Amino acid sequence: MPGLYIHIPFCRRKCNYCDFASLAGRDELISPYLHALKAEAARLKRIFPRPTTLYIGGGTPSLLGPEQLKTLFSLVEDTFGPIKDLKETTFEANPESLTPEKTGLLKAAGVSRISLGLQASQDNLLDRLGRLASFDDFLRAFSQLRLAGFENINVDLMTGLPGQSEAHFRETLELILALQPEHLSFYALEVHEGTAFAAEGVCEAPEPAAAMFALAGPLIEAAGFSHYEISNFAKPGRESRHNLNYWDQGDYLGLGAAAASHRNGKRWANTKDPELYIKTAAGAEGPTLECSETLTQAQRRAEKIILGLRKTGGIELPDDIFIESKEQIDKLSAQGLIEVSGRNIRIKKEALYISNAVFREFV
Ligand code: SF4
Repeated sequence: MPGLYIHIPFCRRKCNYCDFASLAGRDELISPYLHALKAEAARLKRIFPRPTTLYIGGGTPSLLGPEQLKTLFSLVEDTFGPIKDLKETTFEANPESLTPEKTGLLKAAGVSRISLGLQASQDNLLDRLGRLASFDDFLRAFSQLRLAGFENINVDLMTGLPGQSEAHFRETLELILALQPEHLSFYALEVHEGTAFAAEGVCEAPEPAAAMFALAGPLIEAAGFSHYEISNFAKPGRESRHNLNYWDQGDYLGLGAAAASHRNGKRWANTKDPELYIKTAAGAEGPTLECSETLTQAQRRAEKIILGLRKTGGIELPDDIFIESKEQIDKLSAQGLIEVSGRNIRIKKEALYISNAVFREFV
């Protein structure tokens, strides 16, 4: 089940915590970038002729203007066939750049799922993060999406923010749950080198973030969501199919700067530099690569376990991998971190927040 990912590396302004591949205030590069994407798509079509899912992420894909969105959707359809035939098409949006015209275009193009970036409902926390949208902007964007007929919306939230208390986080959750989105994702703040937060000396707050994680689970599950992956909750049948393919170690094709691809154990990623991507994507060799590797059998097995354990249902291991990993499985089971049932292993709910300790055993 191959997934197609398209990266749009443009934002209006860089958020204080952001280390994603995105350029702020370089809108003049968007058109040449779309040309480069078309060239890359045409070159790779022969190895990934028909994706099952599409995910357009960023950066801020909703920053594209109406004509640019039309160009993007036509390049997808000209290369890979009708978007409406895909099992799921997700489009990432930020509230400040989503207009009624763009929302209508997304719907008409066949986008079936929107992932809306919020992070927190308190405007002072949003300001601290350097986000452009206020909570009111988010509410406007959310109802605009509902009015346009979108029935599958994810909301992104964050924990462990500077100045964020458990009461803030609970208030955010309650406000969002009242809107009844179909999906929720939340991530603990990480402070990466090169970001404004790193320059300011902002520290990560793993303990408060863990406490927020612990209070979120029961509240979200009581609202009818299932906790299906470490950071993701969904209403029944609304799990992200595109992301499940990653966790099932499926094949995927990534187009654009910083986009990664995987096919039969071979993995590669494009340059993170959008300008270099634009210069090289149309050449005979394709875009400059950031990295390329063929995974050894041992690496593939380790990845299979680690990715599978991200899902709360765990992973059913084939006999040979189960036997080979018996020592680690017994150790983690004795430590009370995983549950074993037949050949199925899964991380215990209370250990999900410290899943890295489990993953380390299999590296
Ligand atoms: S909107 Fe997203 S990609 Fe853009 S700067 Fe903010 S965090 Fe980074």
